[in-house]
Amino acid sequence: MKAFIAAAAIVAAHAAALAVLPDRGMAISYTFFFSVAALAMFSAWRAWLRSGTPRDHRWWLLLASLGLWTIGMSLSARQNYVLDNSNPAPGDSMFFYILYVLPVLVAVSSAPVAARKKWALAIDLVLAGLLGVLFYLRTFSIVTVEGAIGQQQAVDVAYMLDFENVCLAVAALLRFVATDRADDHSFFRAVMAFFVVYAISGFSYNHYVALNGHPEFGTSSWDALLDLPFLSLFVVAMTRQPQRHWHPPVYLIRFVQSASPTFLAMSVLGFGLMLIPVYPSLGICGAIAAVVGIGLRGTLAQVDLVEEEYRLSRSRDELQGLVFIDSLTGLANRRALDERLLREWHRPAQREPIALLMIDVDFFKEYNDRYGHLAGDDCLRALASVLAGRGLRAGDFIARFGGEEFAVIAPGTRLPEAVALAEDLRAQVEAQGIVHPLSPCGVLTITIGVATVLANANGGPLDLLNAADRALYRAKNAGRNRIGALGEARLESSRA
Ligand code: GH3
Ligand code: MG
Ligand code: MG
Repeated sequence: MKAFIAAAAIVAAHAAALAVLPDRGMAISYTFFFSVAALAMFSAWRAWLRSGTPRDHRWWLLLASLGLWTIGMSLSARQNYVLDNSNPAPGDSMFFYILYVLPVLVAVSSAPVAARKKWALAIDLVLAGLLGVLFYLRTFSIVTVEGAIGQQQAVDVAYMLDFENVCLAVAALLRFVATDRADDHSFFRAVMAFFVVYAISGFSYNHYVALNGHPEFGTSSWDALLDLPFLSLFVVAMTRQPQRHWHPPVYLIRFVQSASPTFLAMSVLGFGLMLIPVYPSLGICGAIAAVVGIGLRGTLAQVDLVEEEYRLSRSRDELQGLVFIDSLTGLANRRALDERLLREWHRPAQREPIALLMIDVDFFKEYNDRYGHLAGDDCLRALASVLAGRGLRAGDFIARFGGEEFAVIAPGTRLPEAVALAEDLRAQVEAQGIVHPLSPCGVLTITIGVATVLANANGGPLDLLNAADRALYRAKNAGRNRIGALGEARLESSRA
């Protein structure tokens, strides 16, 4: 509020001073113009420091724009005081009034992500340099260093300035509204405050004051209009950013972020086309360069996007792989087992039964108690490599079911073959001779429940799991280090 009152006081003082001291009008106006420009630069710099984004170098671009405007104003003062030229549109200062948008245009065109890419920066720099040349040619195609030759030229220059200011005001407004980033929000708030007000007050001043009988500064109290954009930037930069109550749709944010890199190229295209009637080949070159710039930027962004997509899909595949792997043993996990079982169950033209082996380590709690959990883990890993080793056939699938339990799916396997497979696994584990003093056998052993079932519409994979579990339970009850088999309702228990 204080900043607003100070700004209003400055404008009122400027207008009043001009009304009271018309003889000193020009000096008064220049003093106010330079002062408000300095104030705006100081407040922008302060806002940058307070924004907490010291690495956001776009603020330099805003300061550079204000600096270029000040050079334009200095050249205008030189025309008035040194060269005694009162023409409202001397070419040198006009060129800087046009050129001053360039740094901010680069800032407005920078996409938050793409701005960090070197190639994007290189293309922007080339386009910005080209635009500077086009500005120069366009300015001096209308006016001379001394100024506009007639009223029409002065009006043409004024429209060119309006066009530029309005484009920048719209671009800054879009960037301010369509962002979800705090740094963008505070920067574009300052840029928008300046350019939206400049577009309005510059238009009013140029058309209704300078081109309407007051070509020289200091001859109308309306000179104070030109203070407004600088003071608007001052007020915005000195006041705290209000809380955002409205958040734009994400699609709009993405659209503006993706479209903004084209702002700069579009300006090159626009000025290139404007120049064609005067310098056909240069104008066409500018337009072609703009199109190439847009195309190149789009293509390189696409290449980056494809690369990123490929990288993401690779890490997604890796992650997906991990989701189905048991981290301790490296075998498939329970989730993978469920999926595989479901797939086998619904395999078309399934004529042979599916066998399931449920494997449980005997007296494993005692093993842990005796040797500790880390040794127990080592033991589970060793068991996993034995079970997944030579005993299984191609097409068999082994997983860690959970805890010290493993499961094998053997598709297309009848009960006798499944029991033989289980017996083979059991014998292999016993043959490892892993010392287990608390087991009656003296070595680590496993018990296996075997079940087979013909996949049909009446049941589901859970029936098979249940059957194998029941077979295991019964084998455990009958002792350990043995196979229990349950082939579609029959249970056989055999001491190995
Ligand atoms: P049974 O012969 O009846 O199968 O007896 P058991 O001791 O093997 O069975 P119980 O279900 O009582 O105990 C299983 C033990 O397996 C208990 C638990 O500490 C151990 N266990 C389960 N998961 C892990 C693991 O990831 N690492 C280790 N080290 N031990 C585990
Ligand atoms: Mg168990
Ligand atoms: Mg056990």
